[in-house]
Amino acid sequence: MLVFRQLFDPQSSTYTYLLGDRASGAALLIDPVFEQVHRDIALLNELDLKLVCSAETHVHADHVTGAWMLRRHFDSEIALAAAGGAEGTTRPLEHGDHLPFGPRHLEVRATPGHTDGCLTYVLDDHSMAFTGDCLLIRGCGRTDFQQGSPRTLYGSVHREIFSLPNDCLLYPGHDYRGLTVTSVGEERRFNPRLGGEISEADFTGYMDNLKLAHPRQIQVAVPANLKCGRRGDVNEALVAPTWADLTFTFAGIWEIQPQALEDVAGRVQIIDVRETNEFDGAMGHIPGAKLIPLGELSNRLSEISLDQPVVTVCRSGARSAQAVVILQKEGFDQVANLGGGMLRWRVDGRATEGLRD
Ligand code: FE
Repeated sequence: MLVFRQLFDPQSSTYTYLLGDRASGAALLIDPVFEQVHRDIALLNELDLKLVCSAETHVHADHVTGAWMLRRHFDSEIALAAAGGAEGTTRPLEHGDHLPFGPRHLEVRATPGHTDGCLTYVLDDHSMAFTGDCLLIRGCGRTDFQQGSPRTLYGSVHREIFSLPNDCLLYPGHDYRGLTVTSVGEERRFNPRLGGEISEADFTGYMDNLKLAHPRQIQVAVPANLKCGRRGDVNEALVAPTWADLTFTFAGIWEIQPQALEDVAGRVQIIDVRETNEFDGAMGHIPGAKLIPLGELSNRLSEISLDQPVVTVCRSGARSAQAVVILQKEGFDQVANLGGGMLRWRVDGRATEGLRD
C-alpha cells in the first residue's frame, strides 16, 4: 500500500510530500523544509517509516531544504539534479533515472525553465506527479532568475507533463491560495499561462512582463541550498533540547516518557494541571509535583521559574499538552509534556504520593 501525505510550510507556502511503501517501510520526502524537520521526523516515526531519500525538485530560492538535517537523522540519500550543482548531493539525478522506495519508484523527468536543474517526479504508475515550481496550479514558476527561461519552461511542460495521462494528479511545490492538487487534464485546459491554445510566443511575452519582486529569503536560501541545507547558523529552536531525553510529536509537542522524567526528576519543575480533587484523588500525584489546574495556569505563571525546565502532567497527557502550548506562548522554552500522563506513569508502578486509601 502507498502511504501519501501532503505537508505544508506556512512561512514559505511550500509543500513537502511524503511517499512511503507500507510493506517495506521505505519512504521518500520531496522538498523537505529546514524549519519543519522535527515535524517530518515525528511523522515518519509515528507512521513507522524509514526515510531512504529526500529528493529536491530544484535548488530553491524561497526556503532552505531539510535534506542535510534529515540525512543526519536517517542517513538518507540527498537526491537533486546533477545540473543543480549542489555540494553534498549523494544521488545526482539525470533525466530518466528511477528513485526507488521499497518496490515502488519515482521516474525522474528533467523539466528546466524555472531553473536549469528543475525535475518533475512521476510515480511509477503515472497516477501522480510532483512538478516543483515548473507547473503550479493554474500557474507556473517564475523564469526571471536562477537561469530561468520561458521558452525552456514552455517546452518542459508540454513535453514532460502535458504528455502524462489526463487523470494523473499533479502536486505543485507551492500554492499561495491554499489549493492543493490539480490534474494534467485540468491544467491542459485551464492553465491561463500554458493551457489551451497558448503558444510559446504568447507564454514568453506573458512571462517577460511579470515584474515580480525577488523572494525575501533568496540571499540566504540559495547559498544554503547549494550545500543541501548544511548551514552553520543552525537556529537553536531546531536543535533537539538537551535537558532531557525528549521526543517531538507530529502534533507539535515535545514529550517526555516516564523513565526519562525519573532520570531528571530533581532538576525539573513538575506542574500538574489537573483539578484539586484529582491531584488528591485515587491516582495520587508525582512526588514534588506542584498543582496548578489548567484553567488557572495563565494567571499563575509567576509561580513557575523561567530558568528551570518544566514538565506538565495530567491524567492522560491531553490537558498537559495544552499547558505546554500555553507556557511556550508565554516564553517558557524548556517545556515538555509527560506522555500518557498519570495513566502511563502508574502502569509502570512508579512512585506516587497523596494516594487515597
Ligand atoms: Fe523555486
